[in-house]
Amino acid sequence: MPTPTLLLHGGAGSIRREAMPPAREKAHTDGLLEAVEAGKALLERGKSAMDAVLATVACMEDNPLFNAGRGAVFNAEGGHEMDASVMDGRNLQAGAVAGVSGVRHPVLLAREVMAHSGHVLLSGRGAEAFARKRGQELMPPDWFDDALRRRQWEKLQGSGKAALDHAEMIEDNDDPEDDHRYGTVGAVALDAQGNLAAATSTGGMTNKRWGRIGDSPIHGAGTWAENATCAVSCTGAGEFFLRAAAAHDVAARMRYGGQDLEAAATACIHDTVARLGGHGGLIALDAQGRWAFPFNTPGMYRAGWRTGASPWTGMYGPE
Ligand code: ASP
Repeated sequence: MPTPTLLLHGGAGSIRREAMPPAREKAHTDGLLEAVEAGKALLERGKSAMDAVLATVACMEDNPLFNAGRGAVFNAEGGHEMDASVMDGRNLQAGAVAGVSGVRHPVLLAREVMAHSGHVLLSGRGAEAFARKRGQELMPPDWFDDALRRRQWEKLQGSGKAALDHAEMIEDNDDPEDDHRYGTVGAVALDAQGNLAAATSTGGMTNKRWGRIGDSPIHGAGTWAENATCAVSCTGAGEFFLRAAAAHDVAARMRYGGQDLEAAATACIHDTVARLGGHGGLIALDAQGRWAFPFNTPGMYRAGWRTGASPWTGMYGPE
């Protein structure tokens, strides 16, 4: 009998214990626990892994501490363009949206694309029209705004540079709040039927070029789920994760290379992605409930739960 299990991330980046004010550590811990609870409650009631990852990610999309949904970073035009994807490990069904604005829960729209569009990936205005058609919740642009995200953008505006909600932001950081708020979010889950699912949602990179799409909505790059191997959600410098086909790299290492989950996930980040010069991390789960969460940044917001144990959270790297 499979053991229902859930693992989530809230983004990888320059997250350091010595620079983390206690109040902010607590706010993040509370946000992570709230998100675990949202998925755990469903798995405990026998709901599917897909339901659990949707609830977990939707919870984090509503939390402005994380760079997804409300609190998404600003693009070069001063707006928010969000990416999200879902994948069902049972049948490799997949859905995603890229470059959407005004949608409260891009991850739920990705699920609608999977179930009702006849396609896998919708972008921009077409995705927004589909959201209206499917009765998805829409919000005015300023609902997504967050004062810190605006300051991050104002620093980069006109520079022609895009910055991850990650280490690059920190270089000339004079904002005391800045370097602790990372945030692409993702979740992977295993349900009582032995099915895996994965979901990822992001605002992308601050000051990103209009129309830029990262790894998060691309199956095989930012998200993967396949019962026979693993469920994966990535966070980090999207251009590298795209070029590495990172999420699928974990699955391929298991399927073709015979590696176990821990070895495959670790090699993906510390070899495949790092070799290209990329920084970030991922969460991965297999159908036996084994998990791994490697990262090559100083920290990664993360939390997990498995049946019979208490939820846990983490944010720092090994010291
Ligand atoms: N991977 C995301 C992107 O490139 C960013 C992140 O994980 O923070 O859009």
